[in-house]
This record gives sequence, structure tokens and C-alpha cells, in this order.
Amino acid sequence: MSNYKIETKCVQSGYTPGNGEPRQIPIYQSTTFKYDTSEDMGKLFDLEASGYFYTRLQNPTSDYVAAKICDMEGGTAAMLLSSGQAANFYATFNICETGGHFIASSAIYGGTYNLFAVTMKKMGIDVTFVDPDCTEEELHAAFRENTKLVFGETVANPALKVLDIEKFARVAHAHGVPLIIDNTFPTPVNCRPIEWGADIVTHSTTKYMDGHGAAVGGVIVDSGKFDWLAHKEKYPGLCTPDDSYHGITYAEKFGLEGGYITKATAQLMRDFGSTPAPQNAYLLNLGLESLHVRMKRHCENGLAVAKFLESNDKIAWVNYADLESSKYYETAKKYMPNGTCGVVSFGVKGGRKAAETFMKNLKLIAIETHVADARSCCLHPANSTHRQMSEEELIAAGVPSDLVRLSCGLESSEDLIADIAQALSFIE
Ligand SMILES: *Cc1c(COP(=O)(O)O)cnc(C)c1O
Repeated sequence: MSNYKIETKCVQSGYTPGNGEPRQIPIYQSTTFKYDTSEDMGKLFDLEASGYFYTRLQNPTSDYVAAKICDMEGGTAAMLLSSGQAANFYATFNICETGGHFIASSAIYGGTYNLFAVTMKKMGIDVTFVDPDCTEEELHAAFRENTKLVFGETVANPALKVLDIEKFARVAHAHGVPLIIDNTFPTPVNCRPIEWGADIVTHSTTKYMDGHGAAVGGVIVDSGKFDWLAHKEKYPGLCTPDDSYHGITYAEKFGLEGGYITKATAQLMRDFGSTPAPQNAYLLNLGLESLHVRMKRHCENGLAVAKFLESNDKIAWVNYADLESSKYYETAKKYMPNGTCGVVSFGVKGGRKAAETFMKNLKLIAIETHVADARSCCLHPANSTHRQMSEEELIAAGVPSDLVRLSCGLESSEDLIADIAQALSFIE
């Protein structure tokens, strides 16, 4: 890990060209790599030498970008994946197989919730969901003998609840399991979970990291701090020989700093192949170069819009952790002193119908399911992503029918507020 500040890491980490080499990272648009002897290639297959042989496993362009994000998060090893969904699947499945159990915060992205509660359940993996605001005792009580990890989101999408990372890390470590944090919304510019005790960090790079709505992607970063070998019986995949790789024991051969990511690459990427296109890794890197500049603006716009909404008499409630009125204000200031993100949610007085009128009259802010890119967008879940649910189900899911989610982009906050104000004026 370099000692540079996060701004410098965003721009420079991961790739250092030699004399006369390209200044910008080259796109290695090649599925395969050439060798002089089959002996040379054999060493790569046996993980005896490092190098590239097939882009499904690794590609230099993707590795430059993974190395940059690794440095930004303060980790020891990282890998890019084709989506955030793939990142959260690999991150958990790499250490929790059939017959295993893990604990997840209930305030997580809907796609991740479905992956854990439905698809991984079909694979014979059990998940217990806990309220992120639970007490340490409640969290302790969720553990079982076969619990392999704890999972949460720094700032939950879309509930915007802020996780007390230190509390979750303390309890996970007391049970000898790692804490995995999805850090998509704050990005390492605003929060670095490893500094607070998280062991593994994931992202949907599709959101702020790319930041322009251009490429779907994901990343996993390992802190290198979790001692797998001290809990050998729980993690046989890392601590006993892998017959599909000539009896390599990942945690021994690649150490704490590399074992987890090497296993995820050598086994899961080899077999599932959720590999990003080199072109997408290149686009992601362009986004990362300006991430620290953009996050600042996203947060400024988010706070300006949230304050305007809070003072408007057509608005029933506002949820944004950087508002002093938020119940997450203190937690947010501790973990993210420079702001959380640009996503704000709020309720319009008059419920579903008023929310519909508001949305219909927006001119600048577009209706999209996406969040966290340069262009402001907004969504009324009760009328779109959650439209099959009854009023009661919507309330239970934490998305009441008046809820509007607004992702503040990089435009002028004055223009955003003016658009919101004119759309609100149509509500009677
Ligand atoms: C979007 C999102 C994901 C899923 O990522 P994709 O890139 O869409 O697959 C996972 N976690 C969070 C917090 C997200 O916002």
C-alpha cells in the first residue's frame, strides 16, 4: 500500500509505466497470451509462476484497475468482476459452501438480498438477516456453529441506513469469522472500512466508481488481515489442499495477504467466469481518476437538496444521514466525516398520488432505476421496482408508497432545487 492521500491514489495507483511506455493504461483486448514453451505455460497453470494465459482468469488491464482500487481501500489483493452481483456472490461463496451459514444486515441492496435469501439458499447456504441497528447481544445471538462470515453495507441502498462497522467487526471477530462490507455508496473516498476493522470489501463499480453510467462491474478487496489458518476447521477451502490445483493450500502458499483472492480467481473465476471486459476495466479507470472530485460534488448536491426538502411544507419526511435531524448523523460523521453519498430519499405529503404527480412533472431529473452517476435521476419504487407489493408489504420492506429516491448528480444544485420546486408546485 502506498502512503499517498486518497486523491493521489485515485489518479495514480495501480499502473506505473516504464520508460517510453503508454501514459494511460493499455487495453489488452486479447483473450489469450503467447508462450515459448509449454513448460513456461505449465508453471502458470500450477500457480508456480505469475503471468497471464487466458482472460477468463486474469487480464493485465483489469489487474491494473484492481490494484488501484486495492490501494485506495488499503488492502493487500483485489480482483475485478463483471458486476457487483458477481462480487458479492464470489466474496461470500469463496468461504461459505453448502452446509454453511452466514449473517447479513437486512438493510442491503435488493439484488444482494435475493442472491442470499433465494439463490444461495438453493445451494444449501443459510442466511440469517439482522437489523443493522441491533444490539451486540442480538448480533451474538444470530451466530451458529457453522457461521462463516458477517455481511453488511456501509450506507445501505436504498434504505440509507449507516452501519456501525466497528460494532459488526468486533462481534464477527469474537466468533472467529471475517466481516465483509459492501462499500458501494460511500466509495473509498468517503469511507475505508478496512481502517475500521472490516476484513473484505466489495463494490458495485457500476455506481460512483464508474460514475457515468457506462459500464457494469464489481470488485473484491482483501485486507490480508483475517487469519484463516487460526480458524482452519471453518475454512477448509483455504486451509487444506485443493486437489483441482495439485494440492495447493491457498492460505499457506499465498499467505494471509494473497490466499483469499488467489482462491477466488483460481477456482471461482475459472469455473463461473464472471470476468469483466478489458474495455470496461479501462472505462472504470477513467471514472476512478476523477472519483475524489466527483464524490465531493455529489455530497454537496445531496446535502443542498436534502436541506431544501426538509424545509419544504409539501414534504412529509427526508432521509439523508448528513442532515443533523437524521438518526444516523453521529454514526455517519464518525465513519464519513466528508459526507456519505448523493442519494437522498423522502416522502411527499399526499402519498402515492402526490409522489406520482411530482415525478411526472420533473424536467431535468430523469426517471431511472439507476443511482450514483453524473446525471441526477429519481425513482418512485411503489410505482416501479416494488409495484407488485401491497401497501402493507411496502411498509414492511421499508419503502412506503410515498417514498421517492433521488440520486443527486453533478449538475448545479440550484438547477436541481429549481426543478424539484417546480414539480412540487403541481401537487395540490
Ligand atoms: C447496484 C448494487 C449492487 C449490484 O451491483 P451490479 O453492478 O448492478 O451487479 C450491489 N450492491 C450495492 C450496494 C449496489 O448498489
